[in-house]
Amino acid sequence: MKRTKHVDLIVVGSGALGTFHAYHALQSGLRVLLMEMDPRPMQATVRNFGQVVPSGMAGRWFTYGLRSTAIYSEIQQTTDISVRNNGSVYIASNDDEVKLLHELKSIMDDRNYPTELLSQESCAHKWPALNKSYCREALFFPKEVSVEPDKLIHRVLAFMQETFELLDYQPATTVIECVPSAQGVQVVTHAGDTFTAEKAIVCSGNEFRILFPDHFRNSGIIVSKLHMVRTVPMPEVALPGNILTGLTIRRY
Ligand SMILES: Cc1cc2nc3c(=O)[nH]c(=O)nc-3n(C[C@H](O)[C@H](O)[C@H](O)COP(=O)(O)OP(=O)(O)OC[C@H]3O[C@@H](n4cnc5c(N)ncnc54)[C@H](O)[C@@H]3O)c2cc1C
Repeated sequence: MKRTKHVDLIVVGSGALGTFHAYHALQSGLRVLLMEMDPRPMQATVRNFGQVVPSGMAGRWFTYGLRSTAIYSEIQQTTDISVRNNGSVYIASNDDEVKLLHELKSIMDDRNYPTELLSQESCAHKWPALNKSYCREALFFPKEVSVEPDKLIHRVLAFMQETFELLDYQPATTVIECVPSAQGVQVVTHAGDTFTAEKAIVCSGNEFRILFPDHFRNSGIIVSKLHMVRTVPMPEVALPGNILTGLTIRRY
């Protein structure tokens, strides 16, 4: 028998974006239906991700970044979602990058965001695995955290299912249609179930073929591939926290 149901909010996709949209709606007391096409999320949020680095954000995104970091830490106090409090370090390897670090420090001082400039010697002492000659100077952000991408989202989803009675999480459910309706919005799943809500938020990552394909086809967005790689285990190399250098810091 085909199922049907009305909720306040439907969220499509349970990567970081969809899961935390659902989280905020649930915090506000809304009834949320969160749908994920895979048996468990396994896209960008699981394959990439991990550095929680507000220092790389400008303007209001910095404020959002601070709030996100606080939310990760709040949930971590209740259940282990893999948050590690090891900070971030930006490493400068040439004159341009040294200049950038000093500019960044002054911006962060204006924001009262804690930072620490580290000499080459201090860097080598703090992170012995780093190539000392590469590291000219570094800027350390002690408040920033890391998360484990292969654990975080699964643990957050488990936490939310335990915490919020108003959450209906449906994995292995592909939303194939999302259209306006008298109640607000109607979605149809691959199984032919129909759900309605006041609103829907589509957080489908780079899956541009199923929902609104014309919209994306005409958007000019080009899908490119950029994946993290997993190394063989190297227990002899300890690199705690987020380490950013080269093009990564120049991007910011
Ligand atoms: C190399 C690399 C490194 C990165 N490092 C970081 C980092 O250190 N820190 C950081 O904050 N960000 C990082 N990012 C960015 C981060 O990975 C993404 O911004 C984030 O994971 C995107 O989350 P998302 O929920 O939008 O997408 P996704 O994680 O892709 O989630 C989308 C979900 O929607 C589901 N879905 C799609 N279509 C449907 C449908 N029709 N019905 C049901 N479900 C559907 C998919 O199955 C998927 O689970 C990195 C990105 C890259 C490429």
